[in-house]
Amino acid sequence: MSGEEICETHVWASLGVVSRQGAVRRIWECERCPVWTAEPFDPDHELSWDDTWLSER
Ligand SMILES: [Zn+2]
Repeated sequence: MSGEEICETHVWASLGVVSRQGAVRRIWECERCPVWTAEPFDPDHELSWDDTWLSER
């Protein structure tokens, strides 16, 4: 492999959401190097579906 240097300040772009080991995570990938990460969702901030206007559509 060549040209895959790790940059100092990553330029994060969201690739989407996955379920990993039973937890929901958002995948972020750097636009300039191969680094990526999985952002854990805070369960304390989960809102019940029934408490949103989405459930009434
Ligand atoms: Zn980077």
